[in-house]
Amino acid sequence: GSYSHRAVMKGSDEIAQIAAEFNSLTGRLQTTEEARRRFVSDASHEMKTPLAGIKLLTDSILQTENIDLETTREFVADIGDEAARLERITEDLLRLTRLDSGAMEPAVKVAVGPVLERAVRMLRPVAQERNIDLSWQADPAAIVLATEGEIHQILYNLMENAVKYTAPGGFVHTEVCVDGGQVVMTVADNGMGIPEEDMSHIFERFYRVDKARSREVGGTGLGLSIVGDTVHRRDGQITVAAREGGGTVFTVRFKKVSGVTA
Ligand code: ADP
Repeated sequence: GSYSHRAVMKGSDEIAQIAAEFNSLTGRLQTTEEARRRFVSDASHEMKTPLAGIKLLTDSILQTENIDLETTREFVADIGDEAARLERITEDLLRLTRLDSGAMEPAVKVAVGPVLERAVRMLRPVAQERNIDLSWQADPAAIVLATEGEIHQILYNLMENAVKYTAPGGFVHTEVCVDGGQVVMTVADNGMGIPEEDMSHIFERFYRVDKARSREVGGTGLGLSIVGDTVHRRDGQITVAAREGGGTVFTVRFKKVSGVTA
């Protein structure tokens, strides 16, 4: 008697457990589905603005009688700017989709210094144009397990933001050092800073502190979510903090690996 009673109890426990598991899974799927819907809706919204601009500009050219060459050129240049914005959005969306797919290239030993040097070289013209002092320093022992493309993407996006959100005359300083068993990369600027209440959100897709400002500097609102996802998929950590004396510091940590091939 007691045996069968216990068996039933045990059985219903298991069923309850399975039910709870099922409910939790359904909940998670719903959240994922909701996030996906929101993402598609946000992305569409984001692309609608430049598309509307292109449509308006072409209509203006076509509907203005005896439009002069100079005005035409001006409008066409604006159309080009909107197209460039669309291109940036699509590129970032494709990057995120690839990250979401979970497909990963095999990790290799990446020396961070040379990757940083290349990213700085690419950003130098933008920094010069904005009169921002761009400096860097890297420990040759800073070697991590990832792909060069991933490390480039992380450093490039962080430095590009730092340049974009710092006023002319400011600086952006990137440092890569070894701290015990870790490689620590910091990107510091003395720019406009990020309000405390926004810091926990800036890695979310399409989140911006100041939408108008982001658009003005050509932002898509996706840069930091790409950085965050890339860091996490390689088991790294990323944090953001206010810089003492004004500005922002982003810190990325990865496990350090030895340069000697075993
Ligand atoms: P965006 O394309 O708008 O730059 P990101 O995902 O790269 O999008 O960054 C999200 C937001 O975080 C930006 O819109 C900006 O408000 C803020 N932000 C990022 N980096 C910095 C920085 N170095 N200084 C100040 N604000 C920043």
